[in-house]
Amino acid sequence: MEELAIFGGTPVREKPIYYGRQCIEQDDIDAVAEVLKSDLITCGPKVQELEQELCRVTGARYAVVVANGTAALHLAALAAGFTEGDEVIVSAITFAASANCVLYCGAKPVFADIRPDTYNIDPESVEKLITPRTKGIVAVDFTGQSVEHDALRAICEKHGLLLIEDAAHAIGTKYKGQSIGSIADMTCFSFHPVKTVTAGEGGAITTNDEGLYRRLMRVRTHGITRNQEEMVHPTDAAWYNEQVELGYNYRMTDFQAALLLNQLKKLPAFSARRKEIVKMYDRAFADLPEILIQREIPESDTTRHLYIIRLDLNRLKCDRRQFFDALYAENTCPQVHYLPVYWHSYYEKLGYERGLCPNAEKYYQEVMSIPLYYSLTDEDVADVIRAVRKVTAYYSQSEGR
Ligand SMILES: *Cc1c(COP(=O)(O)O)cnc(C)c1O
Repeated sequence: MEELAIFGGTPVREKPIYYGRQCIEQDDIDAVAEVLKSDLITCGPKVQELEQELCRVTGARYAVVVANGTAALHLAALAAGFTEGDEVIVSAITFAASANCVLYCGAKPVFADIRPDTYNIDPESVEKLITPRTKGIVAVDFTGQSVEHDALRAICEKHGLLLIEDAAHAIGTKYKGQSIGSIADMTCFSFHPVKTVTAGEGGAITTNDEGLYRRLMRVRTHGITRNQEEMVHPTDAAWYNEQVELGYNYRMTDFQAALLLNQLKKLPAFSARRKEIVKMYDRAFADLPEILIQREIPESDTTRHLYIIRLDLNRLKCDRRQFFDALYAENTCPQVHYLPVYWHSYYEKLGYERGLCPNAEKYYQEVMSIPLYYSLTDEDVADVIRAVRKVTAYYSQSEGR
């Protein structure tokens, strides 16, 4: 058996690859440079063009572009009207920002468990957590796979809740043929460099609701309006604007918008390549009983942001930490997505206890994300597969040591 790199053997690759990486080409750089030479470099025509393009890509009626995905979630929670005394149900396995946005508004996140095989929020777990204080749900399309919209919509209608979809992973994904971004009450996107398309930093909220749209536009810029209908002291004076509520500065610059506009042209290609790589991994791991792969619901046509492998620890003579470190040493560097949000010490201090979401907690101890991004070559993918097989063979009980 090959000696693992972590014990002094030769790594599968010389040069490390990480779990995600942006793809920036010369035309992206040119698009940014062009705007930097123009008159308006922030929140100008490129941001407006980007909002139109996001409507086209997602099929939503309105899009509001903001500084990052966390700002998108914050504004969505604000526009939803979440406030002190409210409870909002959030997926337990997600990036902390999905729950932080509820805290920003003074409301309380209540964590729902995941399904053990798709890793997305379990609608049955959501239903059990509903109280008279529940105002909404923040559901993440984890790894890019769509949440179960039919089930979540039924719950929202039955209990009068608002659905915010955290689609930071899911641009390009469809549910029953309909693009993510046009289904939930509000959908939040992130354009951080590790996501499928990037603006450096960036985010957006899409919605079909005009009232939510107006509110989002206003709180993006300090809560200031130029619309007389929204003013307490309306006037047609050209210079006059009025702050009618407390908002923020969550604007995106025009040169970032230009970058994202150019990236969106490549979304079909990015999406196709990610799907191809997912297929290669799925096929390669199908015959490894030690490695479990994520179940995909048939309703989701997924542009995958993350590829997760889950270890069957009953069949391996190691824990997740050892497997992770061994894979890392082979220079096919994994990452873990995510710690159950309420395991963060900050949430612990708020009083959340372990044991709330058993599926999420078990999941966390068995998973890691392996490299998945557009510019991975077939050779890179083959290296990752070789490394996973090498580490699995080493620690598997059948071939064990
Ligand atoms: C990336 C991410 C965010 C936050 O987006 P930023 O643009 O980094 O602020 C929120 N939720 C999830 C699930 C994410 O992956």
